[in-house]
Amino acid sequence: MAKGNINVSVENIFPLIKKFLYSDHEIFLRELISNATDATLKLKHLCTIGEAKVEYGNPKIEVKIDKENKTLHIIDQGLGMTGEEVEKYINQVAFSGAEEFLEKYKDTAKDSGIIGHFGLGFYSAFMVAKEVEIITKSYKDAPAVKWTCDGSPEFSLEETNKTERGTEIILHIAEDSTEFLDEFRIKELLTKYNKFMPVPIKFGNKTEELPLPEGAAEDAKPETVEVDNIINNPNPAWTKSPSELSEEDYTKFYHELYPMQFEEPLFNIHLNVDYPFNLTGILYFPKLGNNLNIEKDKIQLYQNQVFVTDEVKGIVPDFLMLLRGVIDSPDIPLNVSRSYLQADGAVKKISSYITKKVADKMASLINQNREDYQQKWNDIKIVIEYGMISEEKFYEKSDKFVLYPTTDGQFYLWEELMEKIKSTQTNKDGNTVVLYTSNVEEQHTYIQTAKEKGYEVLLLDSPIVPHLIQKLESTKEKIQFARVDADHINNLIKKDEPIISKLNDTEKENLKTAIETAVNDKKFTVQLEDLDSSDIPFMITQPEFIRRMKDMQATGGGGMFGMGNFPEMYNLVVNANSNLAGEILKTENIEDKNTKIAYALDLAKLSQNLLKGKELTDFITNSFKNLK
Ligand code: ADP
Ligand code: MG
Repeated sequence: MAKGNINVSVENIFPLIKKFLYSDHEIFLRELISNATDATLKLKHLCTIGEAKVEYGNPKIEVKIDKENKTLHIIDQGLGMTGEEVEKYINQVAFSGAEEFLEKYKDTAKDSGIIGHFGLGFYSAFMVAKEVEIITKSYKDAPAVKWTCDGSPEFSLEETNKTERGTEIILHIAEDSTEFLDEFRIKELLTKYNKFMPVPIKFGNKTEELPLPEGAAEDAKPETVEVDNIINNPNPAWTKSPSELSEEDYTKFYHELYPMQFEEPLFNIHLNVDYPFNLTGILYFPKLGNNLNIEKDKIQLYQNQVFVTDEVKGIVPDFLMLLRGVIDSPDIPLNVSRSYLQADGAVKKISSYITKKVADKMASLINQNREDYQQKWNDIKIVIEYGMISEEKFYEKSDKFVLYPTTDGQFYLWEELMEKIKSTQTNKDGNTVVLYTSNVEEQHTYIQTAKEKGYEVLLLDSPIVPHLIQKLESTKEKIQFARVDADHINNLIKKDEPIISKLNDTEKENLKTAIETAVNDKKFTVQLEDLDSSDIPFMITQPEFIRRMKDMQATGGGGMFGMGNFPEMYNLVVNANSNLAGEILKTENIEDKNTKIAYALDLAKLSQNLLKGKELTDFITNSFKNLK
């Protein structure tokens, strides 16, 4: 047996790092600004604990393009490096000075906001530069040094004459990366990744008007001066405590986050945990209506104020992807791939924490101001309903904040609804029947019938309602949902006194056969019922189960794929006690009889929105003829 060490040669690894370290070359700027930020925050920390005896001042980071020399400069006023430190931190690939710092000062620096992690970030510079220079002067009393490397493992290190503390990184941009010498491109990157980083970042200058001196002439022109153009907000709202922020501050931050978003958010949720992991953030409920697809303005993920991604699938529970806002956690690794993120234990915990927090917030919102909550319900319900069907933990808490609106504009919590209907709306199996409609206009006739009998009809109109109902029925005891057109109301809800039949059995048999023959359509099952004589004579219903399955199929999910298409199936409920039924029975002439039945069927179809195309045209033409 032989044992030994695998020989990794730097010459071979280096090009690999350049090529495969990051899929996106543009992140080099994020990495270098993160290092500049770390250098500044480290110095701040050392000053705070008295280990560095220098003036901290108001340090900033400057990004500069030199088009002539084809260089990009990142300049900081942080702690700098001595020659020895450059050897230690830069020349050792995959040795993280950031981690070392956090380890060394772990008692005090835990919340210092240091970003670095893997000791690889710096080398991302070689993805876009053919040569990189570091000119750096430590805050310690040591000569400044200049490190140069052209992307081969060879470097040079020499003393130089920089006098101010801090580091300047100079990238000699490669031929294939000249886009990074373009101001707009750099501006775009800074806005994307660095907009909320904690140290002010200067990119170019801008002019500013000075205030007019007191007593200045009315037509006096204010003097203008050149000032630093700072591209970031170093203290974004989520880093502050909720007690420091007003509602306006939250709204203002929303627009800062999404400058192209003109609508106001409905609610915000400020997240703030430090155990068992660190996480801060603000989530916003936008006005959603019944819209399940949002493509732009998604939740943004940050690590210590550095933008990581807005692809938050797997980190944020699915239903909350409909929200907007930011989540910031130092526990979310910057450099790793999506699949890694999703498998990460910390990330899973984050997801369940957010779910819980949103549930708690909803419960407190409805308690604080029910009126306001009710008004906003229509725009937030889709998130809540989606959460109920997809997150068990959320569902368990949901009775506290889920509203069930009626067609009359009432809003019930589940318990309130039950109190209202438990004794009055039961079916023959003893289950409580929750009547609902998915469309007030289309199901008007049916709603009307139910209301005349004094029943409550809920308005449940979002596309995922079929799934939600399924869930509610399977977890609540003795509950059954029925859409108002699922059957005649007398069959849906048990009546105390039975209705006396006007027709005898033979008459009923004859009537049924006559109608079946005339209708002659497999889609319709004729169902003769003894109803009040004032009830509608012909009515089309759709059995709840089949219709619901079809709806679920249409919205996808719920394990409904691959079940094939459900056939269209309806019941034609005929009121055997109606005058029309008697009339049909009495009519001897077959043609007349069939005309009556056909006309009644058309009317029934019309009220279920089923009369279309040629059938509709014929119906209208005939109706006009009959008017004459
Ligand atoms: P990480 O940031 O994960 O530690 P990097 O490869 O980005 O790894 O950087 C390596 C190390 O080089 C840093 O930890 C730091 O010690 C040093 N360094 C890089 N840039 C600077 C800078 N601008 N000022 C001071 N030190 C720096
Ligand atoms: Mg770094």
